[in-house]
Amino acid sequence: MKVLKGKPVAKKIESWCIEEVKRLKEEKNAVPHLRVLQYGDDAASKAYVGRIEKNCKKVGIKFEYKVFTDDEQAFVNSLKEANESDEITSIMVQQPLPDSLKDTLEMINPKKDIEGITSASLGKLFIGLDTLIPCTAEACMEIIDFYDIPLKGERAVVVGRSNIVGKPVSILLQQRHATVTMCHSRTRDLNWELEHADIVVAAVGRPEMITGDMLGEDTAVIDVGTNFVDGKLLGDVDYESASKRAEMITPVPGGVGTVTNQVLIRNIVKSFKNLYE
Ligand code: NAP
Repeated sequence: MKVLKGKPVAKKIESWCIEEVKRLKEEKNAVPHLRVLQYGDDAASKAYVGRIEKNCKKVGIKFEYKVFTDDEQAFVNSLKEANESDEITSIMVQQPLPDSLKDTLEMINPKKDIEGITSASLGKLFIGLDTLIPCTAEACMEIIDFYDIPLKGERAVVVGRSNIVGKPVSILLQQRHATVTMCHSRTRDLNWELEHADIVVAAVGRPEMITGDMLGEDTAVIDVGTNFVDGKLLGDVDYESASKRAEMITPVPGGVGTVTNQVLIRNIVKSFKNLYE
């Protein structure tokens, strides 16, 4: 059994980002600039944004973080300002948002939409045009490519159909000629689908739901799940039993999440290039 570690994949992406930011600074006398917007005092969001700030600084990206707690109009104005600014090249809006502000996600300038969440970005992905792609979906593909996992003609089963993970990863897999089956909470026989898969992408949000006995022996398992249980981070796949059965598997932590963080940084660099190159 092979462990598909995220760290070497993330390092490779990080090296590219460092080189690109250096080059852009020399050639354009400017660097990518991220504005993160948050409404409300969500502690988990703050911790996540702290990690992004650290990664931005390492690569040389300019970072700013605006938190609003009691003025929705000020939040909207800050988003509009970022959309129109020549200097701010990337925008990230933290979720959850109050219902009254959910529509603002669609306001993000698609060229600055580093999470690839607007309908404009997702629409381009759907028809195969170049765009900023949701980071976790792209991270799954980075792992698959780094470890030379074949896709053409292979049977890929994606469990979960969210707009930010399940749906985009299924599109990316079929663009690379895998035969993709989407599974979800109403799938009649998930065990059968999993047993016949060459590649399983688990994006469910249920700790250790997929166990080794549900998998085929030659399967590559990409576990997207991040579930905190009693202070411990668990995947959607039961690593212990799955690692005895599958051919390869991403660990949690140290798998998809590690790569996702660097794909986000790469999207910040890409958004700058989209605007100025
Ligand atoms: P989500 O929006 O809650 O979607 C979960 C999906 O799982 C839904 O499509 C749901 O089906 C399906 N599902 C639920 N119970 C199921 C069952 N018993 N059998 C089959 N399918 C079932 O979740 P998400 O945002 O995609 O996130 C999924 C997981 O990935 C979470 O653990 C999240 O924390 C993690 N995540 C990790 C990263 C990373 O970088 N590592 C990034 C984002 C998310 P229905 O559509 O039928 O309800």
